[in-house]
Amino acid sequence: MENCIFCKIIRGEIPSKKVFEDERLLVIEDITPQAPLHLLLLPKMHIVNSLDMTDRDDDLIGYVFRKAGQIAREKGYAESGFRIVQNNGAGAGQSVFHIHFHLLAGRGFSWPPG
Ligand code: AMP
Ligand code: ZN
Repeated sequence: MENCIFCKIIRGEIPSKKVFEDERLLVIEDITPQAPLHLLLLPKMHIVNSLDMTDRDDDLIGYVFRKAGQIAREKGYAESGFRIVQNNGAGAGQSVFHIHFHLLAGRGFSWPPG
């Protein structure tokens, strides 16, 4: 997508702090961290949010969750716990309309979420 900020990051046109990359996924540090660990898992394919997914994306999303768990474990948060968040629509807090998954860890998280 031409003017999508996450597509620009994926193409390397905007700098980011990369944690992991392969052909399907880019993982970067969030620019405004909300926890000691706050990463964004960005599927490279431009999908708006879960309303924009098709059965083509089923494997991809499973992969995202497995990778999030792997990174959380590598960073030492398997025991303390971590949260994966994905917002759908402005009313739910989505501000970038390219699907992404927040991986948050390193502090307590309340429930229900804010
Ligand atoms: P959401 O509000 O769920 O759409 O999340 C968007 C996230 O992207 C926010 O946590 C922002 O801090 C983050 N963000 C926006 N621009 C950048 C950027 N250039 N690099 C890294 N993270 C960003
Ligand atoms: Zn995009």
